[in-house]
Amino acid sequence: MSSRKGDPTPTRIRIDVEGGTGVEIDWADGHKSRYTFQYLRDECPCALCRGHGGLDGPRPPAPKLALYKEAARCTGASAVGNYAFSLAFSDGHATGIYSYEFMRDVCPCADCRSIIRHGAN
Ligand SMILES: [Zn+2]
Ligand SMILES: [Zn+2]
Repeated sequence: MSSRKGDPTPTRIRIDVEGGTGVEIDWADGHKSRYTFQYLRDECPCALCRGHGGLDGPRPPAPKLALYKEAARCTGASAVGNYAFSLAFSDGHATGIYSYEFMRDVCPCADCRSIIRHGAN
């Protein structure tokens, strides 16, 4: 089955680094997505953030930084080819590559969340 939630082709991308409000993407199918930088930091797709699955044992204890974690701010954004962008965060993390397909997958809006919830259908 090749159906996806939607067309992961952005027609407009707005990354509000200075204002700090987050990322807005308009998609070719008319859908609009909005993400806070904190959300994108939490969903960071890079190997460092996603690479714990194969390790033995439960999740490692949170690093000390997390104890007084403040909302992640974006300190920079740059295009990666024509399929993705990367974000640099105030905690120094900058290895996440956010492909448009990934962004569409993690769209936090109620419509997209309910599609995920209903799974196979
Ligand atoms: Zn990461
Ligand atoms: Zn959505």
